[in-house]
This record gives sequence, structure tokens and C-alpha cells, in this order.
Amino acid sequence: MLYNDFQDLKLSALGFGAMRLPLLPDGSIDGAQLDAMIDLAMASGINYYDTAHPYHGGLSEVFLGKSLSRYPRESWNLADKFPGHQNVRGVKPLLPEEVFEEQLQRCGVDYFDFYLLHNVNENSMFYYGNPDNHFMDYFLEQKEKGRIRHLGFSCHAGPEALEQFLSLYGSSLEFCQIQLNYLDWTLQEASRKCEILRSAGIPIWVMEPVRGGKLASFNAETEAKMRALRPDESIPSWAFRWLRTVPHPTMILSGMSSLAQMEDNLKTFSSDKPLNKEELALLGEIAAQLAGFIPCTGCRYCCAGCPKKLNIPTLLGMANDMAFNPGFNTVARYTGLGSDKNAGACIGCGQCVRACPQKINIPEEMKKLSALMDGHKKWEEVCKERAEAAERARAQKA
Ligand code: SF4
Ligand code: SF4
Repeated sequence: MLYNDFQDLKLSALGFGAMRLPLLPDGSIDGAQLDAMIDLAMASGINYYDTAHPYHGGLSEVFLGKSLSRYPRESWNLADKFPGHQNVRGVKPLLPEEVFEEQLQRCGVDYFDFYLLHNVNENSMFYYGNPDNHFMDYFLEQKEKGRIRHLGFSCHAGPEALEQFLSLYGSSLEFCQIQLNYLDWTLQEASRKCEILRSAGIPIWVMEPVRGGKLASFNAETEAKMRALRPDESIPSWAFRWLRTVPHPTMILSGMSSLAQMEDNLKTFSSDKPLNKEELALLGEIAAQLAGFIPCTGCRYCCAGCPKKLNIPTLLGMANDMAFNPGFNTVARYTGLGSDKNAGACIGCGQCVRACPQKINIPEEMKKLSALMDGHKKWEEVCKERAEAAERARAQKA
């Protein structure tokens, strides 16, 4: 197992993410297979395990904690997260003191080695961006009491919201988990986010290294090119090798769902085999094909002249994201921009097109994005529905 230094710790470079645990045919968590995976992980030197309040409806915390409890507490590091991103206008907020106690209980521990504010993004800045919510005071107090060893945050925000968040709390936070892989290096402006975090002195944790499996298999022609260069390695291993070669983060989390996936990852992390120039060029080609919906390079030449001051590359990134892997994170981020800064605010003046070296028809893309997002349920509506369902379930139990 490869290791990286973090303060006085040696952390395995590969961490076990408990968001997609193995399931039985009826959809419940397969505890026996999870135990077998944890046994293999522990025997192979993985010492970092990551869960969160919403994963598997709260059962990820329960199953992971129970499985790890078969090993001495000091032999594993457990990370959990505060779901502040679920606090939105008009919904009864989740309170740090209630959630934190519940999480310790669910996991069966009396401290967390790592604790994160979950999913800082343009929308959750409504909650995280308001110091009057006092969540940071509470978590710093828990750190002083030794119930949190290291405090950090996970982030799906664009570079601007990340900078805004760091300007408020950067000095109290020790690490940041971002979505990072060779596709999101440009698609989600991850290269800029890495630069921002590095200049703030904050170590990088990686989530979605294979983009939820999207970088784990390709068409026969692409896979043949990859196998010709690395005949003994799997297709997903390329994504991990890229992370070790290019941004070189402290922690790479993989949400492993089976023993076979874990065995393949363990093989990859048993030795460092950096990608060479030819291999990096091939990944560049693959990323360009995958992200080739709108070929925005993020140069920002279009931004200065926009009369509505729209963050055009971020909006185009969201359009690409929705085309590649539509999900609520992108809808939530878009909602968080507000109606005066989302794609619907574009007046079609065309200033940006004249500035764009890639000749992208930006007003047209804004129209399409606006129509697409209007067709999605807004994040607030989803949270309200969830809160109402939880309320009904509580009432039924009572
Ligand atoms: S066309 Fe839209 S995005 Fe482009 S400069 Fe005008 S208002 Fe801004
Ligand atoms: S000028 Fe074109 S390529 Fe550059 S950020 Fe704007 S849309 Fe993207």
C-alpha cells in the first residue's frame, strides 16, 4: 500500500468510501460481503474509511462502524460529515449538536478522526456562508474536546464559491475533499480548485476518482489503445495513476461495492507507476472526447464584456455536467446562483461569442441550459419533500 503524510499521520493513499456499499438482491446492505471487504482492506493496509449522514439513508454509518469495530480503534481512521447542504430556505434545519451525537451513536464511536462539512456548493452557501448559523463554533468546540481529530470540508462548488468559503473559514479547516479526475480537471475546473487549495495550504482529498464508474470502461477501440500501453493494468487503474501523476493528492477515496473492485484497486495502489507523456496524452484525448459537448477551456475571455456579469464558463461546465451525468448536485449549484446569474438571465447580446476563441455559440447554449434546468425540480423543492416525508415517518412511528 502507498502512504502519504498528513500532519503526524501516515494515511493510506487509497481510502474506502462507504457511499456505494455491496447490496443483497433485495437492495439491503450485504453485511457479510462488507465484512469480507473490510477484512481485506485492513489486511492490505487501508487505514481511512469515509461515510456520511445521508449515505444509504444513514445505514452506511451503522454498517461501517459495526464492521470496523472488529478491529482496534486506533488501527483505523473514520471520517464522517455534517449534512449542512440539506439545510435550505423553508426547511427545518438540521442542527449540528443533534446530528453529531446521532452520528457518533450510529457509528458506535466516541470520536471521529476526520469530520467534514458536507458538500459546500453555490446553493449550500446559503447555510455555510452564514456565520450566524454557528456550526463552526460547535465543531471547533468538539475538536477541542477531542471528539473530532481533524476538521475539513467536501466541496462541489466552482472556484469562486470555494474562494468565498475559504475566506470565511479557511484558517480553521485542515483538508478539503473535491471531485477530481482527468475529466473534471477541465470539466469542473478542478485544476483551478487545486491551485486555490494549494495556495491556501489545504491538503486535497479526492472523491469520484473514476467519476462514479464513467471512467472505468470505454469503447473497444479506446480500451485497445490503453491495453497496448499497459497490458497488465485495468482500465480504472489509469484514473488512479493519473491522480498520482498529476495533482498528487493526499487521499484518494474510492466507493468500492465489491471484493473484485477492491482487489483491483489494491493492485493499483501496491506500487507507484506514474503515467508517461504518451499515456497522459491518451488520457487527454479521451477526456476531450468525453467532455466534447461544449469545448469551453475556461479561459474567461468572454466574462468581462457580459452585461449581465454571468459566470459563463461555470454555466457551460454545468451544461456539460448535465449532459454527461445529470444529477442533483448540478441542479443545486445552478439554483444557488440565483435567477439574476443563471442561464435564464442571458439577453442574447452576443458580446461573449465575439470574445470566445473556441467560437462557442454561448447565447444558444444558455437558452438550452435554461430550458433544461427549468424542467428539473429545484433543490429546495426536493429538500422540502424529503423533510415532509421524514416528518410523516416520525408521526407514524409516534
Ligand atoms: S449573450 Fe448572454 S452570456 Fe453572452 S455576453 Fe450577452 S448576456 Fe452575457
Ligand atoms: S471565452 Fe469561450 S472558451 Fe473561454 S471561457 Fe468563455 S466560453 Fe469558455
